[in-house]
Amino acid sequence: MATAEVKRQKPEFANEPFVDFSKPENKAAMEAALKKVAAEFGREYPMYIAGRAVTSGLKKTSTNPSHPTQVLGAFPEASADQARQAIEAAHEYFGTWKQVPAEQRAGILFRAAELIRQRKFELSAWICYEVGKTWPEADADTAETIDFLEFYGREMLRFAGPQPVTPMKGEKNFLVYIPLGAGAVIPPWNFPAAIATGMSAAALVAGNTVVLKPSEESTVVAAKIVEILYEAGIPKGALQFLTGKGEVAGDALVKHAKTRFIAFTGSKDVGLIISEAAGKRQPGQLWIKRAVLEMGGKDATVVDEEADLEAAVEGVAQAAFGYQGQKCSACSRAIVSEKVYDAFVQKLVERTKKVTVGPAENPTNYMGPVVSEGAMNGILSYIEVGKKEGKVVAGGGRAPGDGYFVQPTVIADVSPKARIAQEEIFGPVLAVIKANDFDDALQIANDTEFGLTGAVYSKNKAKLAKAQEAFHVGNLYLNRKCTGAMVGAHPFGGFNMSGTDSKTGGKDYLLHFLQAKSIAEKV
Ligand code: NAD
Repeated sequence: MATAEVKRQKPEFANEPFVDFSKPENKAAMEAALKKVAAEFGREYPMYIAGRAVTSGLKKTSTNPSHPTQVLGAFPEASADQARQAIEAAHEYFGTWKQVPAEQRAGILFRAAELIRQRKFELSAWICYEVGKTWPEADADTAETIDFLEFYGREMLRFAGPQPVTPMKGEKNFLVYIPLGAGAVIPPWNFPAAIATGMSAAALVAGNTVVLKPSEESTVVAAKIVEILYEAGIPKGALQFLTGKGEVAGDALVKHAKTRFIAFTGSKDVGLIISEAAGKRQPGQLWIKRAVLEMGGKDATVVDEEADLEAAVEGVAQAAFGYQGQKCSACSRAIVSEKVYDAFVQKLVERTKKVTVGPAENPTNYMGPVVSEGAMNGILSYIEVGKKEGKVVAGGGRAPGDGYFVQPTVIADVSPKARIAQEEIFGPVLAVIKANDFDDALQIANDTEFGLTGAVYSKNKAKLAKAQEAFHVGNLYLNRKCTGAMVGAHPFGGFNMSGTDSKTGGKDYLLHFLQAKSIAEKV
């Protein structure tokens, strides 16, 4: 079927609606899914290299951060040699996969989206168990997974169609987009379905082959995604699945001479290691590796004296404590005009006290656990730093329970240069900073090494216009919270040490996985 015809048959992209858990049928469906997937706890998941299931090697387990003794699944830890085999197999299969017509590749993504829609509650249940997302957060992750598949499928149809070039007398000119080759996809754990799927699907639909090396913290969800992609029709040769350590398997993938591109989302420190390693030519390497790097943030919300204070408090609380502050877009600094500072802090403390913390599968909890013991200890040590750098006005330690529960914590009177105002904590810890005026607030907001998301609350249009120009972030939100980017509506990616601004879920994203070939024929 021709591209134009497939495109005509597809309605315009629209975001997958979120599940309304206040409806009894949806609540019942989620409860049933949690029960159903629990029967599968402890299963072993293989890697897939060169079309074969591989179970050899050291076994690692994935556990539930709400109940750390609960083992969810086991998987092999890939050696550097196995990583090399995987990228070589992906390189080998590239010649076959790139010949598959774009419409067919896009069709597989649409099928995968449909399969996930049918198993929505089950995927959300796995996300809830493995990384501690509450029901609505897990559902948002699942919905975004569907969105990426639908969006990138359509985008590939656009890139496969005719591209505009200026006509030239005496020549027939055109431009086509072709894929790059075999690449490594290295996602984080915090959007275990959406980011792993988004980066893999974008690369695959563009005609590249992929080695997916998910985070050690979210391997079961990644294995479920890989099963769905295979079922939808992605050949095993096109998608290799490698589990294990970033420093071993991930590192070997990044450094291999046959690796054509790396799509990474994760921390600044690892992103910089990858950027450097990818920049070094290996013996036999024929290209400059493309590195698409999405990294951390130290996102701020500016609260002006002319703001709707209630809305600002609500936006800050949701962006700081939603998914336990473990979003790259999470608000970790509130920069507040001195004229409303005391009132804001008081209202925020009252709001924070209403936040419930406990096991993620229990829908009465607004916050679940943080992802691991290591993450919890790191966050708690930042809180200790914060106790010296400011005044703890809410939270300040562990929350009760066996899981990795941390209280939502607000630290007021923090200096803009304090460590907790500069370093990414990646937990439910908010630094509140006083600003002299709006200009001062923007200056403080920009004064970190990051530049991912930011929000401004003000009723003053001139101030909002100034923020549009001066607030140096990849995703700016006016009079709304700084989390919750939607595919298509808010292409996502940050400036400075927040990454290469790749704008996931946007019209430019697939270009990272394509190269343009210009062809001119004398007539
Ligand atoms: P991380 O950097 O620790 O790990 C990310 C991935 O890199 C994992 O799969 C890991 O196994 C792998 N890895 C680790 N060391 C490696 C190495 N030397 N070579 C190759 N791969 C290696 O990050 P994380 O803890 O999984 O995720 C949290 C971080 O991700 C936060 O900093 C957060 O801000 C960031 N993040 C950014 C975005 C964005 O769009 N900008 C989105 C989500 C998360």
